[in-house]
Amino acid sequence: MATLDAKIPKGPIAEKWTNHKNNINLVSPANKRLIDVIVVGTGLAGGSAAATLAELGYNVKAFCFQDSARRAHSIAAQGGINAAKNYQGDGDSVHRLFYDTVKGGDYRSREANVHRLAEVSTNIIDQCVAQGVPFARDYGGLLDNRSFGGVLVSRTFYAKGQTGQQLLLGAYSAMNRQIGRGKIKMYSRHEMLDLVKVDGKARGIITRNLVTGEIERHAAHAVVIASGGYGNLFYLSTNAMGSNVTAGWKIHKQGAHFANPCFTQIHPTCIPVSGDHQSKLTLMSESLRNDGRIWVPKKKEDAAAIREGRLKPTDLSEEDRDYYLERRYPAFGNLVPRDVASRAAKERCDEGYGVNKTGEAVFLDFAAAIERYGKEKAHVKGLDENDTALVQKLGKEVVKAKYGNLFQMYEKIVDQNPYETPMMIYPAVHYTMGGVWVDYNLMTSVPGCFAIGEANFSDHGANRLGASALMQGLADGYFVLPYTIGDYLADDIRTGSISTASPEFEEAEQRVRAQIDAFINNKGTKTVDYFHRKLGKIIWNKCGMSRNEKGLKEAMAEVKALREEFYKDVFVPGTADSFNEPLAKALRVADFLELGELFAKDALVRTESCGGHFREESQTPEGEALRDDDNFTFVSAWEYKGEPGDAKLHKEALNYENIELKTRSYK
Ligand SMILES: Cc1cc2nc3c(=O)[nH]c(=O)nc-3n(C[C@H](O)[C@H](O)[C@H](O)COP(=O)(O)OP(=O)(O)OC[C@H]3O[C@@H](n4cnc5c(N)ncnc54)[C@H](O)[C@@H]3O)c2cc1C
Repeated sequence: MATLDAKIPKGPIAEKWTNHKNNINLVSPANKRLIDVIVVGTGLAGGSAAATLAELGYNVKAFCFQDSARRAHSIAAQGGINAAKNYQGDGDSVHRLFYDTVKGGDYRSREANVHRLAEVSTNIIDQCVAQGVPFARDYGGLLDNRSFGGVLVSRTFYAKGQTGQQLLLGAYSAMNRQIGRGKIKMYSRHEMLDLVKVDGKARGIITRNLVTGEIERHAAHAVVIASGGYGNLFYLSTNAMGSNVTAGWKIHKQGAHFANPCFTQIHPTCIPVSGDHQSKLTLMSESLRNDGRIWVPKKKEDAAAIREGRLKPTDLSEEDRDYYLERRYPAFGNLVPRDVASRAAKERCDEGYGVNKTGEAVFLDFAAAIERYGKEKAHVKGLDENDTALVQKLGKEVVKAKYGNLFQMYEKIVDQNPYETPMMIYPAVHYTMGGVWVDYNLMTSVPGCFAIGEANFSDHGANRLGASALMQGLADGYFVLPYTIGDYLADDIRTGSISTASPEFEEAEQRVRAQIDAFINNKGTKTVDYFHRKLGKIIWNKCGMSRNEKGLKEAMAEVKALREEFYKDVFVPGTADSFNEPLAKALRVADFLELGELFAKDALVRTESCGGHFREESQTPEGEALRDDDNFTFVSAWEYKGEPGDAKLHKEALNYENIELKTRSYK
């Protein structure tokens, strides 16, 4: 077992980033013009990085597989973005955000990175406001905040239920300005299919034009991977349908360690699965837990009656309801972190209290909020607070103003009116804390190859707090990578432009062509989706919300067998040199089929429970996750060795000098 050095600067935590920035090797403006940088992915992380790198003077080539950068998965983000501005005067601070994030991640994240994240969080808001992002404002015109899980302050900035969309439009506009200036060359509908290394350094990528099928070579002095998360490993997730692991996995195969692959976030408030026909799950933003109360019936017979349609949830009296989060976690109540809320919902449903036909749903109820807001509004307007109809009308108006688009989305999908009856929700795969291992400079273990945003193993440890992914993506893209990349590129100012005519580019291109030809010529009998769906079922059932040794060993064997079957029997219609979605999907699923095995292996090795990783063998008598700090206070970083099951484990020790390791409690 090897140990890894993340190259964390020395010194007090609050000074590390500033001192490091002051000591970073700089590239002069004139020399930046001689340097090319490839950015794979133009979501919030990649879009902000591309725009900033170009603004600094580098020549940027940016790639995305969508038809437009503004359709990246980031656009789906609903709830908000955290920042330690303390606008509410409720005691927030950089330290508190740092502390909450380390604690929320169950003490499995790197202190130095999280502190830097908390520090730059405030700059992000200023940057986005300057770009014109329309954050919600209070009646006085100041920026408004709301609360997200795992914290006791209001630090989440939001734009209705469309925060990701508005932030992405900001980054996209900044990118477009640079495209207009000729500093960014944008390649949409291009998928990166391999990394090219020359003399051990990342020097380019191989892409496929998804419209024409053309295979292209692109060279640069550094490559930045900002390709998002791999939640679609589970087939069903809240991620965009196209989200995949290919860019991250391909660099892994070229030497980039893959960290904590098993750390997955299962979000508690999603619309429940309705059947086998489904290919996508929908998130109901965590912001709804600000006002929605989560409950199931207290009695099993009532739950059964609701499931069978003999009883309506609104008919059940208060005494017959179990607000189980408020009961179990009085301090944080409905705003406990996601891992805790998800497990609690599963526990109730496993015990037989689920409320939909499949028994896998709990209620998220706004009746109390509607009444509370309605009364307040009536009071403010000097109207009759005892007029039920009026209070209901006014309360619904307030709720609509806060969450209207989410309620509308729910009604369109479920065909029930959530103003009149509680929503039904259940946990679903949402985010991956694992990803490509990076050092403090966000560089992977391949020199010159960087990873940012959800694609890296991130600052969130074993569980991400709500509204922290956008914060991390934009911190990486606007404020961290643009500086740290200079430290590496300073050595490259005399290199000159990188040629794509080298044997290394030829070899990488041939690897890609061979894989594509193999799929087209395979002529098997089963669709790519058949395999993806089967993979998702294995991973969800055996590596999902709770895991055990037996299931994980089975998962490793089953994924390996499925991968072998895939290569024997997959059918990919069409040709290589045309628009061919099944081919694009086959290339992505091939990588998921390798990642799946490593995922199970990672979960198997980590015999403790922490955050989103719940090992049944390691729990307290109350059923809470039981960490094992003596043996597992490290990041697992896996080195590719051929078969995923043969990957070699490297450990990055996590040293907590500023925050005391404690059992996480939200009671
Ligand atoms: C429904 C939903 C709601 C969310 N709400 C919130 C929220 O309120 N607050 C919060 O903080 N977080 C939220 N998140 C999480 C957050 O949205 C994501 O973590 C974040 O947007 C990821 O940004 P990214 O830039 O890293 O990746 P993405 O936005 O996923 O962008 C990935 C980019 O990489 C490109 N790409 C990928 N592979 C390749 C390849 N091989 N070749 C070329 N291009 C490639 C894609 O085209 C895309 O441009 C939410 C997530 C979901 C699913």
